[in-house]
Amino acid sequence: MSDDILEDGRKLFAGTADFLWASGDKDNLIPEGPIEIALTGRSNVGKSSLINALTNRKALARTSVTPGRTQELVFFDINNRFRLVDMPGYGYAEAPKEKVAAWTKLIFDYLRGRSTLARVLLLIDARRGAKEVDDQVMDALDKAAVSYQIVLTKCDQISGKELEALIAATQKRIAKRPAAFPQIIATSSLKGAGIPELRAAVAQLLSDRGA
Ligand code: GDP
Repeated sequence: MSDDILEDGRKLFAGTADFLWASGDKDNLIPEGPIEIALTGRSNVGKSSLINALTNRKALARTSVTPGRTQELVFFDINNRFRLVDMPGYGYAEAPKEKVAAWTKLIFDYLRGRSTLARVLLLIDARRGAKEVDDQVMDALDKAAVSYQIVLTKCDQISGKELEALIAATQKRIAKRPAAFPQIIATSSLKGAGIPELRAAVAQLLSDRGA
């Protein structure tokens, strides 16, 4: 990754970061505007912590006390350049079936035909690796032809060797997936590892889109 794009990423996230809109109803989403980059993953994957680390804020995204509580899409404006979209987490064990169905419906109503959605960041907990439920979400993203990129979280919790093996295994897992972006980014919100690289990947994506 070049120094220039790392610097672009740093600058991109060094400005404003503001809450814009939250809704759990697909008929009440913020109208399309700037490019959107969405984040999702299993409940407790570290999504709120990652949004806060990216934006260098303590509590832009609220870290969840009750897993799976938030069933809303939350939109943030970043530096008047693009929107981060905090999608609800999935796959919490105690969720009743109707909740899972509601999640799926909200997410796919949003994903389908959102022309400004540039990419979904699919978060995977490095201690756990991708699970069947993650594969199901990837299946759905492939089907909807929504570009997605794997971001490993909590990488401070495993050794360098384990991380290497996990990246290789995850790369293999996504190799044949049509909508998966090949580069996997390993992060630790706690230690800051991989945060500059993830910011740079976002900056690159915006630049590729001419945004
Ligand atoms: P969310 O439910 O996906 O939004 O996850 P949270 O951001 O609320 O984090 C879930 C739990 O994981 C919390 O206890 C966090 O402190 C912890 N966590 C999040 N990021 C990291 C990280 O980078 N390293 C470690 N060790 N723990 C983390």
